[in-house]
Amino acid sequence: MSASNHANAFALPAVDADGRKNLVGLSRDELEAEMLSIGLEKFRARQLWHWIYHRGATDFAVMTTLAKPVREKMADHYAIARPTVVKDLKSTDGTRKWLLRMPDGQEVESVHIPEEDRGTLCVSSQVGCTLTCRFCHTGTQRLVRNLDASEILAQVMLARDMLDEWPAPPDGRMLSNIVMMGMGEPLFNYENVAKALKIVMDGDGISISKRRITLSTSGVVPAMRRCGEELNVNLAVSLHAVTDELRDIIMPINRKYPLRDLMAACRDYPGLSNARRITFEYVMLKGINDTPADARALVKLLEGVPAKINLIPFNPWPGAPYERSTDRAIQVFGDLVNNAGYASPVRTPRGEDIMAACGQLRSESLRLTAAERAAIDKVIAEKDAELA
Ligand code: SAH
Ligand code: SF4
Repeated sequence: MSASNHANAFALPAVDADGRKNLVGLSRDELEAEMLSIGLEKFRARQLWHWIYHRGATDFAVMTTLAKPVREKMADHYAIARPTVVKDLKSTDGTRKWLLRMPDGQEVESVHIPEEDRGTLCVSSQVGCTLTCRFCHTGTQRLVRNLDASEILAQVMLARDMLDEWPAPPDGRMLSNIVMMGMGEPLFNYENVAKALKIVMDGDGISISKRRITLSTSGVVPAMRRCGEELNVNLAVSLHAVTDELRDIIMPINRKYPLRDLMAACRDYPGLSNARRITFEYVMLKGINDTPADARALVKLLEGVPAKINLIPFNPWPGAPYERSTDRAIQVFGDLVNNAGYASPVRTPRGEDIMAACGQLRSESLRLTAAERAAIDKVIAEKDAELA
């Protein structure tokens, strides 16, 4: 199954139980078409956009710039839906994790990481992930489906609700940055991710600039260029190994897109310069990929690519097959990379006490019917066959 077919698998029904269509996630053009379809003027779409994405309205009744009959007509046909918050957990370090339930009962997690004068939301693109990287908890979740654009966008909107930032203040926002680093592989769900991010970037609404958005990929080579051309967001690549031999084992996608192809796609990423680099993520696994020889090989591999390196101490989860590298090993590795001229900050684990750190996300979604189960198993089997 191709990435775009995969994106369309398991699309959600577009209407709620009352037959009302959800407006969240529609493009401006689609919103205009909806207005015309119920006999309203095109410009209503612009008014709605402002209320939904600038003011955060979830109820037509508060849209006081619209006449009452117009509001009522909209409410008869449409909803401005949010997912249900099943859990709202707060770490001792201030990190928050929300477990969200979608209308079909499937669940995903988003994480908010506050810093002094800004805050980053880590957004999920899929329920689970088909890629089964061996160090990642999400990859052990058997249940997988793509989120649609509204579900990706809804995570951002819900965080704004929770942080009370409608409309968002011009400076010092607690939701200032977005990383597509939650559950799932965003480039296996590119269409929906792109649609959601375009709405997030829209200056008349949520208005988070592409400079403050980072998309992380495990290396879906054919989708990387398009992502750069269309969205031009910052790119992070989960590298984690410097030989195909090891990467084949810890990241099965490497069997399909080996390091040579991945590095070529990185060199080709549009708009790279010294001021705009690719971030290479490197999870530090004790005794697996953390020797000085690995560090030197990493430097060699990145030759010619404007790069930053982000060292991530492995975050454990129940039954994980690896351990975190020692502080000493991480420091020696980091120094070697630094001395070669690459910035290589070590990412401090955040929210470990609520299982919110990198790679710890995994939801226990609802039981499926036998038919749904079979459909999902089929996609996973196809995915595995593609990677074999
Ligand atoms: N699927 C995408 C984005 C989500 S993962 C990707 O793989 O890039 C975000 C980052 O956390 C990735 O670099 C991922 O490899 C890393 N990660 C996964 N499991 C981890 C763990 N247990 N400890 C530390 N980092 C982990
Ligand atoms: Fe999926 Fe990324 Fe986890 Fe790999 S690291 S299983 S690609 S979420």
